[in-house]
Amino acid sequence: MTEATDRAPASDRPPTDGGTRLLRTSLLEPPPTRAVPVTGAQPSSDTGRIIVPEPDELPAPTPRVAVRLEEVGKIYPNGKHALMDVDLVVPEGDFVFLVGPSGAGKSTLIKLLVHDEESTSGIIHVAGYDLTHLGRGDIPRLRRQIGIVFQDFRLLPRKTVRENVAFALEVTGTPRRQIRATVDRLLALVGLTAQAEQRPSQLSGGEQQRTAIARAMVHDPKLIIADEPTGNLDPLISWEIIQLLLRINELGTTVLMATHNAEVVTALRKRVVALESGRIVRDEVGGYHRDYA
Ligand code: ADP
Repeated sequence: MTEATDRAPASDRPPTDGGTRLLRTSLLEPPPTRAVPVTGAQPSSDTGRIIVPEPDELPAPTPRVAVRLEEVGKIYPNGKHALMDVDLVVPEGDFVFLVGPSGAGKSTLIKLLVHDEESTSGIIHVAGYDLTHLGRGDIPRLRRQIGIVFQDFRLLPRKTVRENVAFALEVTGTPRRQIRATVDRLLALVGLTAQAEQRPSQLSGGEQQRTAIARAMVHDPKLIIADEPTGNLDPLISWEIIQLLLRINELGTTVLMATHNAEVVTALRKRVVALESGRIVRDEVGGYHRDYA
């Protein structure tokens, strides 16, 4: 067995359904109905037959978790305590806003999740990976489970929309025909089929962000992290981008979005995690509450 299959967690092993996970959950079909595990089934001591308990006797199935942080702390080398005692659980399928004033620790938290920085203390699990015990080669596999969308889009200026989206698949050696099919599907999802051959400089800000979202989806990630995705966009276009992220979330991808966009956060009534001075000070469904700078 290769190192890759040895180390890959269950979530990253080749799908057992013939490789159709991308097709199924991303774009075209509703997510499958999850089978409820028959936990608690016991062989009868008398007959040896399996007795399945009544539904109300079954233990509740453990929800799958996209992100779990336990008592996470981050101290930068200059002694700055950027995060302290952060506990956070994001079940798969959630849509979570991350808010807080400048300097609260939002970027640091995102850097820990994508393993750009390492925590100083605590436990971090992302998409089935224990980030404190990553093996050699796990980091690229982890990053394929996470799609990242930035405020400033970060597209390759000389490449077309299609090439920008295809690039992440090319570097992982995906066959050309599969790349074409995946990119076509994602461009349709984000509404950019007609702009496929244009370069970023020929696109509006909203179209550039749509391209970036399509690129973030190429590996059919479990988690999309959007870091101020509407920060450079006017209000109307911002709403279009939010609608797109909501659609992606409906299709089964967990979304964690750091934002200062109070209007959007307040209107959507989603879960809001608020950081201040490196600590979570609020975690509830609801509005923005504060006028963060
Ligand atoms: P936010 O994204 O909420 O604005 P950050 O995570 O960027 O907050 O920063 C949290 C705190 O950590 C701030 O006080 C910031 O100055 C500090 N900080 C961020 N990055 C570094 C770094 N590389 N070295 C030292 N201090 C840092």
